[in-house]
Amino acid sequence: MSTPTSEPDLGRSPEALLRELREEGIHDARVLAALARVPRHAFVPPHLLPHAYEDRPLPIGHGQTISQPYIVALSTEALALRPLDRALEIGTGSGYQTAILAELAGEVYTVERVPELAASAEERLRTLGYTNVRFRVGDGTLGWPEEAPFDAILVTAAAPRVPNPLLAQLAPGGRMVIPVGGRVSQELVLVRRDGDRWVQRRLCPCTFVPLIGEEGWT
Ligand code: SAM
Repeated sequence: MSTPTSEPDLGRSPEALLRELREEGIHDARVLAALARVPRHAFVPPHLLPHAYEDRPLPIGHGQTISQPYIVALSTEALALRPLDRALEIGTGSGYQTAILAELAGEVYTVERVPELAASAEERLRTLGYTNVRFRVGDGTLGWPEEAPFDAILVTAAAPRVPNPLLAQLAPGGRMVIPVGGRVSQELVLVRRDGDRWVQRRLCPCTFVPLIGEEGWT
């Protein structure tokens, strides 16, 4: 007698999540296609699989979270990535947002301060076949000066202010998305470098875990 193989219960379908994101105003076809290609359930702890395709952040251990899909989609849309862009991400976490960036940019550099999260994200992304991502463990508030400048910078933890090293590492015409504000709630901000001017635009209110480091929270 053969035993039936059981598929993991993923709760809602990926398609239902994508429909919800479209209804919430995400329209960029390349971003939606990237979200459709990256399996969010590969980035969440096993006991949270039934929640993988809900539009909310989920715990990933070490007091950190995988970001809410809507915020991932909105941030990625605002970065307006082109296929040859070099992108810097601060806060690798589970690696989910990293994978979305790797789908749309030429090269992705990602920095995480918790070594265990960086190691598991790196293994996960290698298993999924991403070859255009470089990982570093350290304080991302200082950026990755050896590889600067970057066409796009995405900070996935909340900063008290935009770190100066990140402003300096943005290429002319470059875009940065970063949550800025208090420890509990923030505004997601888009910064565009126009020559030697940095122009800011607010995208939406948000809640992220704190960015801890020399140019962040202590
Ligand atoms: N985008 C990630 C994902 O999809 O899984 C979620 C990132 S989580 C909201 C924020 C991450 O930023 C955490 O993993 C945290 O350890 C990291 N972090 C906080 N301060 C940092 C810093 N100074 N440098 C690098 N990473 C930092």
